[in-house]
Amino acid sequence: MTGRLRIANGTVVDPVAGTATRCDVLVEDGRIAAVDAPELIEADAPVYDARGCWVTPGLVDMHVHLREPGHEYKETVATGAAAAVAGGFTSVACMANTNPVNDSAAVTRYILEQATLAKSARVYPIGAVSLGLKGERLAEMGEMRRAGIVAVSDDGMPIMDAGLMRHALEYATLFDLLVIAHEEDACLRGRGVMNEGVTSVRLGLCGSPAAAEETMIARDVALVELTGGRLHIAHVSTARSVAMIRAAKARGLAVSAEATPHHLFLTEEAVAEYDTNAKMAPPLRTQADVDALRAGLGDGTIEAIATDHAPHHADEKECEFDQAANGIVGLETALGLAMKLVALSVLDVPALIARLTTGPARLLGIPAGTLAVGAAADVTVIDPERRWKVAARGFKSKSRNTPFDGWDLTGKAVATFVGGTLVYEDRPATAPLRVAS
Ligand SMILES: [Zn+2]
Repeated sequence: MTGRLRIANGTVVDPVAGTATRCDVLVEDGRIAAVDAPELIEADAPVYDARGCWVTPGLVDMHVHLREPGHEYKETVATGAAAAVAGGFTSVACMANTNPVNDSAAVTRYILEQATLAKSARVYPIGAVSLGLKGERLAEMGEMRRAGIVAVSDDGMPIMDAGLMRHALEYATLFDLLVIAHEEDACLRGRGVMNEGVTSVRLGLCGSPAAAEETMIARDVALVELTGGRLHIAHVSTARSVAMIRAAKARGLAVSAEATPHHLFLTEEAVAEYDTNAKMAPPLRTQADVDALRAGLGDGTIEAIATDHAPHHADEKECEFDQAANGIVGLETALGLAMKLVALSVLDVPALIARLTTGPARLLGIPAGTLAVGAAADVTVIDPERRWKVAARGFKSKSRNTPFDGWDLTGKAVATFVGGTLVYEDRPATAPLRVAS
């Protein structure tokens, strides 16, 4: 977009400085031109009235599945990007488990081309660690890096071969790539479809123990120590995992972690009615695990809130629990759920925004999560008081698999700008146009 826009009268949340200040933001030619600078803000420019709202850097989700190429009936890059901006996310990083797998520069480029055509959220592909996600031979990380990947992961498939993981950590370092690990020991998990414990016994479902995750994290922390690589633990789910990550960081190791809204707000009890929308990998755990995840977010052990947005067709969820696909969609509910962390005093407002912006942006090394002068004008306007009810039928995503359908949430993205262009706006039908020229 060329020209100017003044985002006026809002509270600008700066996750780096840890501040929230009433001031205006001036956007010029797609970039941030001024923040809280009266002489520039007196400039003659159209106004977006953000009264009563937070004005934050565009949100960043470092873990989504966009399903294209190969599973376009679940989601496409375009519908996933539309869901992203509707949820306030201006940048998303998409996992490699497409068909074909993103283990080559050609697939990386294809995803980026689809993202350019969608003209919506920025999409950052994550390349596979191993060819075909088979866990046997490393993929060509350098070639994919040059094509545009920002990290590598076999997400969805745990890397069971410790030797391969060692080489992945070493090889990724050559290209300054983060290795994102899906930590679940496949042998310990066995046929487990939910957390192993009294609830799985009561329901007669096969359980997967917390140790399936924890033993893998212990192994990979040791491999980081051996290799000097950078390891990021996807969707941490247990209390002991949080403690191990905290200890690894205290020893100065490059280990980081993310938590999902579902692991922060649901326990294994959500499975009680055999609701397949409560089936995920790793599974929902216990209240003690939820409490530990929240504490880890609060003290910075967990730097990022990530959705693990995993669209599935209704047929893949409307079946027996054992047979159902893992995962849920998350882009359009994440912010509303995460806002509860402020109400629960787990995070203050700048810290919440940091876990949704600077935290993941720094880990991926992408130019996002900032309202610094000169940065791309990716801005999310959040109404913290907006009360709304989750209605899966109205999602921009192609898929509806969410356990949060019908939940009453407070706080919502009401305007999302990418590169200074308004790509999403949610305003009551009766409200006047907010952008006035
Ligand atoms: Zn995932």
